[in-house]
Amino acid sequence: MILPQTFVFPGITTRVVFGDGTLTQTGAEITRLGHTKALILSTAHQAADAQAMAANLGALSAGVFSEAAMHTPVNVTEAALAAYRASGATCIVALGGGSTIGLGKAIAVRTGADQIAIPTTYAGSEMTDILGETLDGQKTTRRDPAIRPETVIYDIALTLSLPASMTVTSALNAIAHGVEAIYAADGNPVLSLMSVEAMRAFRDGLPVLRTAPQDTAARAQVLYGAWLCSTALGYVSMALHHKLAHVIGGSFKTPHADTHAILLPHTAGFNAQAVPDLLAPVAEIFGGSVGGGLWDFAKANGAPLALRDLGLSQTDLDHAADIATQAPYPNPRPFDRADIRNLLAAAWEGARPD
Ligand code: NAD
Repeated sequence: MILPQTFVFPGITTRVVFGDGTLTQTGAEITRLGHTKALILSTAHQAADAQAMAANLGALSAGVFSEAAMHTPVNVTEAALAAYRASGATCIVALGGGSTIGLGKAIAVRTGADQIAIPTTYAGSEMTDILGETLDGQKTTRRDPAIRPETVIYDIALTLSLPASMTVTSALNAIAHGVEAIYAADGNPVLSLMSVEAMRAFRDGLPVLRTAPQDTAARAQVLYGAWLCSTALGYVSMALHHKLAHVIGGSFKTPHADTHAILLPHTAGFNAQAVPDLLAPVAEIFGGSVGGGLWDFAKANGAPLALRDLGLSQTDLDHAADIATQAPYPNPRPFDRADIRNLLAAAWEGARPD
């Protein structure tokens, strides 16, 4: 491995409970944080799971709010805040994917509430201090220590119901965090080795889930990878890949995980030209070149490969390239608008990067 001459390791402050059936430890974790009442959050889709959790928690439950939505709309947060204050809760349990965990963070940053995040996808919001919120169609992202959940419970059993398409796109979303952590300007060797370990776990676990989605051992591997990548995301700054994913997702309302999945081979392949040694483990794990190996892995696991399949037009690519090159941000490989337009054209076509 390549050891940087200087780095900062910020520590990992979140308590993590990982295993099969760990959901039953939620009550003990609420008590451990010193609370007696928790408001449970979910999407409408997962409302029944949240209600079941409330029933199991008994007196520790202050009720359920089941209206979490993608990209944390501020009007939903305001309704959730009213429910939180009316419920008498002093902490939050967020049961779901990045949308639900985002709502918990939005409440926590406004109230100081402690959070227990129980992720049911691989997107990786749970370990981070990042919150993206949408107001009047505009998404703004901020970082604050108050945003990071105090406790994360990973329960393998909760991921068995994740549909096949989300399983693969969400996993590639996680891998994108790991790739960008490896070359992050503020990265460190511990997060790099966590990211590489995560990619091995995804490489070994994901193909099994294609044919056996209920395979607990493979689900465990993939969820372990998701934890590692979420941790990496939580302590570094992201670069070109995330900028493009946010520009496209924000401008054209494309599905979050699909957008990440399609862009990843192209952004990773592009940056590999500048940092081949740093990304060599990615090529080694997935085979071939960095971009080609990730594309082959995505294809073999049934991921979407082309931005045009998400409804984008060629004109949209011009618009995206304009926005993505407007404000400077750190990236290992310098680029201009033509570079980004070419990268997006390949991602639009679904071409295999080489
Ligand atoms: P999501 O939370 O929007 O979930 C998508 C749908 O899948 C929802 O209807 C949900 O209820 C359902 N679902 C979730 N888990 C399920 C399961 N196990 N079984 C069946 N259905 C399930 O999707 P996501 O990709 O996890 O999150 C995307 C959001 O998270 C975006 O808004 C993104 O910006 C945010 N995000 C934030 C961070 C961060 O650090 N702030 C990191 C990653 C993602």
